[in-house]
Amino acid sequence: MEHIPCLIIGAGPAGYTAAIYAARANLKPVMYVGNQPGGQLTITNDVENYPGFPDGVMGPEMMDLFHKQAKRFGTDIRYGIVTHVDFSGHPHQITIDNEKMLTADAVIIATGATAKWLGLPSETRLNGSGVSACAVCDGFFYRGQDVAIVGAGDTACEEALYLAKLCRQVHLLVRRNEMRASKIMQARIKNTPNIVVHWNAATEEILGEQTVTEVLVKNTQTGETYEIPVEGFFVAIGHHPNADVFSKYLDTDAQGYIITQPDSTKTNIHGVFACGDVQDRHFRQAVTAAGSGCMAALEAERFLIAIETHVLTAAD
Ligand code: NDP
Repeated sequence: MEHIPCLIIGAGPAGYTAAIYAARANLKPVMYVGNQPGGQLTITNDVENYPGFPDGVMGPEMMDLFHKQAKRFGTDIRYGIVTHVDFSGHPHQITIDNEKMLTADAVIIATGATAKWLGLPSETRLNGSGVSACAVCDGFFYRGQDVAIVGAGDTACEEALYLAKLCRQVHLLVRRNEMRASKIMQARIKNTPNIVVHWNAATEEILGEQTVTEVLVKNTQTGETYEIPVEGFFVAIGHHPNADVFSKYLDTDAQGYIITQPDSTKTNIHGVFACGDVQDRHFRQAVTAAGSGCMAALEAERFLIAIETHVLTAAD
């Protein structure tokens, strides 16, 4: 069975940053790239808020640059899905694609989160051409324009308030006659004049040939359908952290996000670290993911030194 000192699972900004740091520290990292190489940024167009790119950069291009930088320092990048783990002892055991078994001293989990989508064909067709699941990433492109956002939780409220600062009018589409969001967020929505709340509003279709032009909404109480002219359509109905395969061993919160120790990427298992969106339900930005990827590599390095020198303390 192959033994790997430092295994990185996932290839978004967190995983690649962990790889760059681990490779430069001579940890000889092996990185497994899952179903979506490059992560959520590969379904984004322009990224304008990542420092170092004054003219912006396309999401896929940025991830290609991350990939090249990780390779340059010798990261062994492989394709395969982690289908099973056993973190009950040490070294940790990992199965790839249900067949290849590995052991690893340090495991860095950077598997990200997946935005939930409505599941409409038009949503997929216009993704990146007016449809987005991240207001902070893409809201700027719609400044002065009208947008719609679907959802009724705290994320939808937070994103609607963010959009309201940039856009002319924000249509918040709530599928029931009440919102799940906290009362304070609901009050903020109510007190923002350019947010219009549409109650009992089901999104039937996103309209537009090349880009979004309208959203077709159905009132679930009256059956009435109507179109709202918008340039942007945001989906904020929650995220699913990609942590299911690890949840037998790792502590997770009610939404399934891996719990890490404060100011750290350490999980409840020695030698298993989590970084990026799989452990971050608040910020979910490329730059915060990259920052925590750096933290994970530095903590993995310290852990590997501790086991090599047989001086493993509770803090490791
Ligand atoms: P939530 O699961 O809380 O809310 C998802 C919302 O999307 C629900 O209102 C749900 O409607 C709606 N929804 C789901 N599917 C559809 C659909 N097909 N069509 C229309 N609407 C749909 O997710 P959030 O991302 O908002 O929040 C996740 C967690 O993170 C929560 O615990 C939240 O409190 C927390 N959070 C906290 C923040 C803060 O404190 N500042 C900021 C952001 C999030 P319905 O209610 O009808 O089920």
